[in-house]
Amino acid sequence: MSLYSYIDGHILLPLGDRLKGRDLHGAFAEALRTEWFTEEQLEQLQNEKLQHLVRHCYENVPWYRKVFDERHLTPDDIRTRADLVKLPILTKQTVREHREEFISRDAAQRKYVEDSTGGSTGTPMRYLEDMGTWNTRRGLGRRGWAWAGFEVGEKLFTLAGNSLVRKNADGKKVLLKDLYDRIIMRNCKQDCTDVTPEALERYYRAMMRYKPSGIRGYASSLYFLARYIEQHRLPVCPVKVVLTSGEKLHPAYRYKLQQVFRAPVFDAYGAADGGVSAHECYMHEGLHIGEEHCILEIVDTAGNPLPEGEVGHVITTDLNNYAFPFLRYRVGDMAYIKPERCSCGRAHRLLGEVIGREGRAIYNKQGRPYSSIVMDNMMFKDLDFHTEAHQRLYEKMERFQIRQDSRGDLKILIKPADPAEPLETFAYIRENFQQYFPDSAVELLFVEDIPPLPSGKEDYCYSEFVY
Ligand SMILES: [Zn+2]
Repeated sequence: MSLYSYIDGHILLPLGDRLKGRDLHGAFAEALRTEWFTEEQLEQLQNEKLQHLVRHCYENVPWYRKVFDERHLTPDDIRTRADLVKLPILTKQTVREHREEFISRDAAQRKYVEDSTGGSTGTPMRYLEDMGTWNTRRGLGRRGWAWAGFEVGEKLFTLAGNSLVRKNADGKKVLLKDLYDRIIMRNCKQDCTDVTPEALERYYRAMMRYKPSGIRGYASSLYFLARYIEQHRLPVCPVKVVLTSGEKLHPAYRYKLQQVFRAPVFDAYGAADGGVSAHECYMHEGLHIGEEHCILEIVDTAGNPLPEGEVGHVITTDLNNYAFPFLRYRVGDMAYIKPERCSCGRAHRLLGEVIGREGRAIYNKQGRPYSSIVMDNMMFKDLDFHTEAHQRLYEKMERFQIRQDSRGDLKILIKPADPAEPLETFAYIRENFQQYFPDSAVELLFVEDIPPLPSGKEDYCYSEFVY
């Protein structure tokens, strides 16, 4: 540990906490305390937190009192994870329509921040984030960084959209936040919405000037930067680690980031609404769910819990949000929990692949769902991204987008890296899709550009087909 990291972690960070009314330092200590809990200890912790929260909801939150009364339930009926099934699933639409009823009667005496979901998950939803949740999320985040070998006090370069790089209209707040980011978090942030060559050159120069130990951001933004660096044969400062979050990390992205930055990539998944956070450890076998923070369930479309290994909707109960409780909240992503535990020895269950925002998982006409990871694999010859020749072929596409219309037919839009490239180079993609979507028409076409999304996130897979 460097001297700066030590001073930062032990003096500056607690001081910043005191000034800002937060407890990042305490939350990190708590995350370390429970890091090696057994499965039974984690379950006991969850049940204790759940019972406390449920009683609070019953006594102080109008929406839940109504839900309990309608079902003739009392807090004693919800004592464990298995009891949660007695409660209905909560959607974003319900929260939007009944927002006031979700605010705890004692919210004024609690510390919270007002927050909103981004536009990439549909209509934004406003909610309150209890400081208990705010702190826990960051404590677990810092623990995730520690697994990656990165500590607070080391220089971080962030390239992301507004979920990680926040803009603030209030100039005074920006100044304070900037100081906090630079001195305590040592985080140099760049807004990645723009990915033109000029913008990539700007990010590259900012990164080289800053000389960070860690690079963090949306997987696609960092991938674009890596591609830019590679194409222009630019030198890269030594980096310890690449931290991705905010969207799906495709195997091809991980490969390219590791190759260009010559550092391991650690992925994370989170949703501030619902209190979900999950981090990859150094074994890279999946993302450890922050069980201290939420009870995460995977359910089918009808709301029935699914066994481990099966893909379904992510449902979460935030164990730390008392100001605006979320019980059995549907986050809007699809994922599965791995049946195996991680070989690192931690008992926190592993989230397998997160399939991305729901509605974007693609079904064939027989009703078989395909995750975005499979969609990405379809763009490789023989669905194999390990072969270098296949990777080179993949790189002949600058961008691509898979679109499925309401009838289930597919259009694969490709922006070739070289405009002179014949379309037949990519004929294998049509064959790949035809194999897995036997009754769908598959059309390949070249486009000059792929339409971007306002959120700055890449959307390469889009479907209107509902099976
Ligand atoms: Zn592990």
